[in-house]
Amino acid sequence: MESRRVLAAETPSHAGGAVRLMGWVSRIRVLGGIVFLELRDRSGSVQVVVRRGAPCFDLARRLSRDYVVAVEGEVRREERAPGGVEVVASRVSVLNEAEKPLPLDYSKSGNPLNLRLDWRFLDLRSPRSQAVMRALAEAAHAVREYFRSQGFLEIFTPKIIGQASEGGADVFPLVYFGREAFLAQSPQLYKQLMMATGVERVYEIGVAFRAEEHRGPRHLCEFRSIDYEVSFVKDHLEVARYSVEVVRRAVEAVTRALGGFGEMFGEPPVVPADPPVLNVEEACRLIGRPGCSMTAEEEELLGEAVRREYGSDLVVVTEYPWSDRPFYTMRLPEDLSKTRSFDIILRGLEVASGSQREHRYDVLVAQLKEKGLDPSSFKFYLDHFKYGMPPHGGAGIGLERLVKQILGLRNIREAVLAPRDPERLTP
Ligand code: ATP
Repeated sequence: MESRRVLAAETPSHAGGAVRLMGWVSRIRVLGGIVFLELRDRSGSVQVVVRRGAPCFDLARRLSRDYVVAVEGEVRREERAPGGVEVVASRVSVLNEAEKPLPLDYSKSGNPLNLRLDWRFLDLRSPRSQAVMRALAEAAHAVREYFRSQGFLEIFTPKIIGQASEGGADVFPLVYFGREAFLAQSPQLYKQLMMATGVERVYEIGVAFRAEEHRGPRHLCEFRSIDYEVSFVKDHLEVARYSVEVVRRAVEAVTRALGGFGEMFGEPPVVPADPPVLNVEEACRLIGRPGCSMTAEEEELLGEAVRREYGSDLVVVTEYPWSDRPFYTMRLPEDLSKTRSFDIILRGLEVASGSQREHRYDVLVAQLKEKGLDPSSFKFYLDHFKYGMPPHGGAGIGLERLVKQILGLRNIREAVLAPRDPERLTP
């Protein structure tokens, strides 16, 4: 008997030989003198049969779903079995039992999301949820590879910070050895700090915290943000190209890893290398709402219109009004009411937001004041711009948002291991 463990997916290559498998019982049927087990491990599943007369028959009959077992047996070709082989067991041992009934029947679709999240470890046993976790990992991996290939340095910025980076109210405060501190909403300051060092290109996939009372399907209080910043850019369009490429690479990687999308998720999005670019005015006209402000509903309409008109699921929207963007955004020299900014809308939802940054010290101070912020409380930030800051720009792309849109998930909570929202702090 071979003692090395064989994975379910490897069994066909052991046809005629002996194997030892370990995993979970994902199905059990007792038909007359035969017990059919479906054994699942990280690679997939395989059929195991235990015949009356085998020493382990009585034990096998008493197994139930989600028991953890080890099986030894012989691999036989069997046309009717999934994968074309089955394992005829000579030995079955129970590594651990599972209580009955399971609090969540994860083999069924249509379980309420809250129940799934309450029993997340069980929910994550389902092939669909495992595919979502895989998609997150593959997307993150592809993004890292892309940035590395473009000469970006990966950075690791602090998540406990002394001051809210954008002067916003959406920060979680915490007590830091008796002092007030905050959880970082974004690595904005640190990305820009790195531009002042001469590294020129940086990226991070890090956690971002937002104390926003959103309860809808698009927001989390803790999400992973893919951030990058790049020096010597001509304008926001050049910055946006990296975001488009990030989305393209993520779509490709997820599609490849999931072996097409099959019945689980429907079709992957269509993302051309050269997607449509519209400024806010053009985008509003396209959806027949001149003067609109690209609300979530308008983004949805735009998604549909762009698909219709350009055959693309991605659109770059540019030149958002100065009133809607943070103080560090560069404005259009010819029209100060607009900015050198962009959002990437994928399937009707914003997945990325970026801009060329204002790098001129005096203009930056004036812009802070215009936003009603006090430059003296931004001294730490402004100092970076006094001693040789190159022109630069960057963006933030929500990893869970991106995966939600790639897979066409209804709720962003499905695209994160353990969501944090205003109600949920466990598991
Ligand atoms: P929104 O308008 O959707 O609230 P935002 O304009 O606040 O987003 P930014 O601060 O520009 O978003 O963040 C950049 C990207 O980070 C967004 O495009 C999105 O993908 C992601 N993101 C922002 N906030 C959240 C959140 N609360 N939960 C999940 N992802 C988020």
